[in-house]
Amino acid sequence: MAQKLAAGNWKMNGTEASLAEIDAMIAAFPAPGCKVLICPPATLLDRLSTRAEGSAIATGAQDCHMNASGAHTGDISAEMIKDAGGTYVILGHSERRTDHGETDEIVNAKTMAATGAGLIAVVCVGETLEQRDAGETLDLVGTQLAGSIPEAVTGQNLVVAYEPVWAIGTGRIPTIEQIAEVHDFMRARLVERFGAEIGNAVSLLYGGSVKPSNASEIFAVANVDGALVGGASLKAADFGAIIDAL
Ligand code: 13P
Repeated sequence: MAQKLAAGNWKMNGTEASLAEIDAMIAAFPAPGCKVLICPPATLLDRLSTRAEGSAIATGAQDCHMNASGAHTGDISAEMIKDAGGTYVILGHSERRTDHGETDEIVNAKTMAATGAGLIAVVCVGETLEQRDAGETLDLVGTQLAGSIPEAVTGQNLVVAYEPVWAIGTGRIPTIEQIAEVHDFMRARLVERFGAEIGNAVSLLYGGSVKPSNASEIFAVANVDGALVGGASLKAADFGAIIDAL
Protein backbone atom coordinates (compact mmCIF):
# COMPACT_ATOMS: atom_id res chain seq x y z
CA MET A 1 0.00 0.00 0.00
CA ALA A 2 1.46 3.33 -1.04
CA GLN A 3 1.71 6.18 1.42
CA LYS A 4 -0.77 9.07 1.11
CA LEU A 5 1.14 12.26 0.37
CA ALA A 6 0.08 15.89 0.07
CA ALA A 7 3.01 17.73 -1.51
CA GLY A 8 3.32 21.47 -2.06
CA ASN A 9 5.55 22.90 -4.78
CA TRP A 10 6.06 26.58 -4.08
CA LYS A 11 7.97 27.03 -7.37
CA MET A 12 9.64 30.49 -7.56
CA ASN A 13 7.48 31.96 -4.80
CA GLY A 14 8.21 32.82 -1.22
CA THR A 15 10.34 34.97 1.04
CA GLU A 16 10.78 35.24 4.79
CA ALA A 17 7.15 36.41 5.15
CA SER A 18 5.90 33.12 3.68
CA LEU A 19 7.22 31.19 6.67
CA ALA A 20 4.10 32.30 8.55
CA GLU A 21 2.11 29.96 6.29
CA ILE A 22 4.21 27.07 7.57
CA ASP A 23 3.57 28.05 11.16
CA ALA A 24 -0.16 28.06 10.39
CA MET A 25 0.02 24.62 8.75
CA ILE A 26 1.98 23.14 11.65
CA ALA A 27 -0.54 24.56 14.11
CA ALA A 28 -3.50 23.28 12.08
CA PHE A 29 -2.11 19.80 11.49
CA PRO A 30 -0.21 18.49 14.52
CA ALA A 31 -0.98 14.94 13.36
CA PRO A 32 -2.30 14.91 9.77
CA GLY A 33 -3.78 11.70 8.39
CA CYS A 34 -1.28 11.71 5.53
CA LYS A 35 2.33 12.66 4.87
CA VAL A 36 2.71 16.39 4.21
CA LEU A 37 5.58 17.85 2.21
CA ILE A 38 6.50 21.41 1.29
CA CYS A 39 9.13 22.17 -1.36
CA PRO A 40 9.97 25.88 -1.07
CA PRO A 41 12.51 27.69 -3.25
CA ALA A 42 16.09 26.72 -2.33
CA THR A 43 16.62 30.04 -0.54
CA LEU A 44 13.98 29.10 2.06
CA LEU A 45 14.73 25.39 2.49
CA ASP A 46 17.03 25.75 5.48
CA ARG A 47 14.75 28.22 7.30
CA LEU A 48 11.62 26.26 6.53
CA SER A 49 13.18 22.96 7.60
CA THR A 50 14.27 24.49 10.89
CA ARG A 51 10.78 25.88 11.41
CA ALA A 52 9.16 22.49 10.62
CA GLU A 53 11.53 20.47 12.81
CA GLY A 54 9.65 18.19 15.17
CA SER A 55 6.40 18.74 13.24
CA ALA A 56 4.62 16.35 10.86
CA ILE A 57 5.71 18.42 7.84
CA ALA A 58 8.60 17.22 5.67
CA THR A 59 10.54 19.56 3.42
CA GLY A 60 12.29 19.22 0.10
CA ALA A 61 13.78 20.98 -2.90
CA GLN A 62 12.50 21.50 -6.44
CA ASP A 63 15.57 20.24 -8.31
CA CYS A 64 19.11 19.01 -7.76
CA HIS A 65 22.22 18.56 -9.86
CA MET A 66 23.26 15.06 -10.94
CA ASN A 67 26.77 15.57 -9.54
CA ALA A 68 27.68 15.65 -5.88
CA SER A 69 29.75 18.85 -6.09
CA GLY A 70 31.89 20.87 -8.44
CA ALA A 71 31.92 23.70 -10.95
CA HIS A 72 28.18 24.06 -11.62
CA THR A 73 27.30 27.69 -11.00
CA GLY A 74 23.80 28.20 -9.67
CA ASP A 75 23.08 24.53 -9.02
CA ILE A 76 22.61 22.65 -5.76
CA SER A 77 23.39 19.01 -5.03
CA ALA A 78 21.35 16.35 -3.30
CA GLU A 79 23.82 16.42 -0.42
CA MET A 80 23.22 20.16 0.02
CA ILE A 81 19.46 19.60 0.15
CA LYS A 82 20.00 17.08 2.93
CA ASP A 83 22.33 19.46 4.68
CA ALA A 84 19.59 22.13 4.59
CA GLY A 85 17.14 19.73 6.24
CA GLY A 86 15.28 18.50 3.14
CA THR A 87 14.30 14.87 2.72
CA TYR A 88 12.60 15.05 -0.71
CA VAL A 89 13.41 16.54 -4.11
CA ILE A 90 11.09 17.14 -7.07
CA LEU A 91 12.77 16.08 -10.32
CA GLY A 92 11.81 16.43 -13.97
CA HIS A 93 9.00 18.92 -13.40
CA SER A 94 7.64 20.02 -16.79
CA GLU A 95 8.81 23.56 -16.05
CA ARG A 96 12.37 22.21 -15.67
CA ARG A 97 11.99 20.06 -18.77
CA THR A 98 10.80 23.11 -20.76
CA ASP A 99 12.81 25.97 -19.22
CA HIS A 100 16.06 24.04 -18.78
CA GLY A 101 15.90 21.40 -21.50
CA GLU A 102 15.88 18.51 -19.04
CA THR A 103 15.57 15.17 -20.83
CA ASP A 104 14.54 11.81 -19.39
CA GLU A 105 18.24 10.93 -19.34
CA ILE A 106 19.10 13.96 -17.22
CA VAL A 107 16.17 13.33 -14.87
CA ASN A 108 17.32 9.72 -14.53
CA ALA A 109 20.84 10.83 -13.51
CA LYS A 110 19.40 13.35 -11.04
CA THR A 111 17.11 10.71 -9.56
CA MET A 112 20.11 8.44 -9.09
CA ALA A 113 22.02 11.24 -7.37
CA ALA A 114 19.05 12.06 -5.13
CA THR A 115 18.25 8.52 -4.02
CA GLY A 116 21.96 7.77 -3.68
CA ALA A 117 22.23 10.65 -1.21
CA GLY A 118 19.26 9.30 0.77
CA LEU A 119 16.58 11.66 -0.54
CA ILE A 120 13.13 10.65 -1.77
CA ALA A 121 12.73 11.60 -5.44
CA VAL A 122 9.40 12.94 -6.71
CA VAL A 123 9.71 12.27 -10.45
CA CYS A 124 7.25 14.19 -12.65
CA VAL A 125 5.77 13.06 -15.95
CA GLY A 126 2.92 14.34 -18.09
CA GLU A 127 1.80 15.22 -21.57
CA THR A 128 1.21 18.51 -23.38
CA LEU A 129 -2.21 19.33 -24.80
CA GLU A 130 -0.95 18.57 -28.32
CA GLN A 131 0.21 15.13 -27.18
CA ARG A 132 -3.13 14.44 -25.48
CA ASP A 133 -5.10 15.56 -28.53
CA ALA A 134 -2.92 13.33 -30.71
CA GLY A 135 -3.74 10.32 -28.49
CA GLU A 136 -0.12 10.02 -27.34
CA THR A 137 -0.62 10.39 -23.58
CA LEU A 138 0.05 6.82 -22.45
CA ASP A 139 2.94 6.35 -24.89
CA LEU A 140 4.55 9.55 -23.65
CA VAL A 141 4.01 8.79 -19.97
CA GLY A 142 5.36 5.27 -20.52
CA THR A 143 8.46 6.63 -22.22
CA GLN A 144 9.04 9.22 -19.50
CA LEU A 145 8.63 6.62 -16.75
CA ALA A 146 11.00 4.19 -18.45
CA GLY A 147 13.59 6.87 -19.16
CA SER A 148 13.44 9.05 -16.05
CA ILE A 149 13.46 6.36 -13.37
CA PRO A 150 16.69 4.43 -12.73
CA GLU A 151 16.80 0.73 -11.85
CA ALA A 152 17.90 1.09 -8.26
CA VAL A 153 14.79 2.68 -6.74
CA THR A 154 12.63 1.30 -3.96
CA GLY A 155 9.04 1.85 -2.90
CA GLN A 156 10.40 4.10 -0.17
CA ASN A 157 12.62 6.47 -2.15
CA LEU A 158 10.48 7.07 -5.23
CA VAL A 159 7.26 9.03 -5.71
CA VAL A 160 5.82 9.61 -9.18
CA ALA A 161 3.71 12.66 -10.01
CA TYR A 162 1.46 12.74 -13.08
CA GLU A 163 1.14 16.36 -14.09
CA PRO A 164 -0.49 17.04 -17.45
CA VAL A 165 1.32 20.16 -18.68
CA TRP A 166 -1.96 21.73 -19.86
CA ALA A 167 -3.50 21.39 -16.39
CA ILE A 168 -0.70 23.23 -14.55
CA GLY A 169 -1.78 26.67 -13.38
CA THR A 170 -4.68 26.75 -15.83
CA GLY A 171 -7.64 25.82 -13.65
CA ARG A 172 -8.36 22.94 -16.05
CA ILE A 173 -8.09 19.33 -14.93
CA PRO A 174 -8.47 16.09 -16.89
CA THR A 175 -11.67 14.14 -16.39
CA ILE A 176 -11.71 11.70 -13.51
CA GLU A 177 -11.65 8.89 -16.10
CA GLN A 178 -8.55 10.35 -17.74
CA ILE A 179 -6.76 10.64 -14.38
CA ALA A 180 -7.74 7.06 -13.53
CA GLU A 181 -6.52 5.77 -16.89
CA VAL A 182 -3.06 7.32 -16.53
CA HIS A 183 -2.67 6.33 -12.87
CA ASP A 184 -3.71 2.73 -13.53
CA PHE A 185 -1.27 2.66 -16.43
CA MET A 186 1.59 4.04 -14.31
CA ARG A 187 0.90 1.52 -11.53
CA ALA A 188 0.91 -1.34 -14.04
CA ARG A 189 4.17 -0.16 -15.61
CA LEU A 190 5.89 0.17 -12.23
CA VAL A 191 4.70 -3.28 -11.10
CA GLU A 192 5.81 -4.77 -14.42
CA ARG A 193 9.27 -3.27 -14.14
CA PHE A 194 10.01 -3.37 -10.41
CA GLY A 195 7.72 -6.14 -9.17
CA ALA A 196 4.57 -5.90 -7.08
CA GLU A 197 6.25 -5.10 -3.78
CA ILE A 198 8.05 -2.00 -5.04
CA GLY A 199 5.53 -1.05 -7.75
CA ASN A 200 2.59 -0.99 -5.37
CA ALA A 201 4.51 0.91 -2.69
CA VAL A 202 5.36 3.92 -4.88
CA SER A 203 3.03 6.85 -4.12
CA LEU A 204 1.39 8.16 -7.30
CA LEU A 205 0.46 11.83 -7.10
CA TYR A 206 -1.78 13.82 -9.41
CA GLY A 207 -0.72 17.42 -10.07
CA GLY A 208 -2.24 20.29 -12.03
CA SER A 209 -4.82 22.79 -10.73
CA VAL A 210 -5.60 20.78 -7.58
CA LYS A 211 -7.76 22.95 -5.33
CA PRO A 212 -9.90 22.48 -2.22
CA SER A 213 -12.94 22.31 -4.54
CA ASN A 214 -11.72 19.38 -6.67
CA ALA A 215 -9.37 17.52 -4.29
CA SER A 216 -11.94 15.04 -2.92
CA GLU A 217 -13.05 13.71 -6.30
CA ILE A 218 -9.42 13.37 -7.46
CA PHE A 219 -8.41 11.55 -4.26
CA ALA A 220 -11.30 9.12 -4.69
CA VAL A 221 -9.63 7.72 -7.82
CA ALA A 222 -7.92 4.35 -7.35
CA ASN A 223 -4.14 4.64 -7.64
CA VAL A 224 -4.17 8.34 -6.78
CA ASP A 225 -2.21 8.45 -3.52
CA GLY A 226 -2.13 12.21 -3.16
CA ALA A 227 -1.34 15.43 -4.97
CA LEU A 228 1.51 17.67 -6.04
CA VAL A 229 0.05 21.12 -5.54
CA GLY A 230 1.38 24.39 -6.92
CA GLY A 231 -0.63 27.58 -6.42
CA ALA A 232 -2.95 26.19 -3.76
CA SER A 233 -0.01 25.13 -1.56
CA LEU A 234 1.05 28.73 -0.95
CA LYS A 235 -1.77 29.47 1.47
CA ALA A 236 -2.20 27.42 4.63
CA ALA A 237 -6.00 27.58 4.37
CA ASP A 238 -6.12 26.14 0.83
CA PHE A 239 -3.41 23.53 1.36
CA GLY A 240 -5.00 22.61 4.68
CA ALA A 241 -8.31 21.91 2.96
CA ILE A 242 -6.48 19.65 0.46
CA ILE A 243 -4.73 17.81 3.30
CA ASP A 244 -8.12 17.35 4.93
CA ALA A 245 -9.57 15.93 1.72
CA LEU A 246 -6.78 13.36 1.57
P1 13P B 1 -0.75 24.22 -9.94
O1 13P B 1 -1.31 23.46 -8.78
O2 13P B 1 -0.49 25.66 -9.65
O3 13P B 1 -1.54 23.98 -11.18
O4 13P B 1 0.72 23.61 -10.22
C1 13P B 1 0.87 22.24 -10.30
C2 13P B 1 2.31 21.93 -10.31
O5 13P B 1 3.00 22.16 -11.27
C3 13P B 1 2.89 21.33 -9.09
O6 13P B 1 4.17 20.87 -9.32
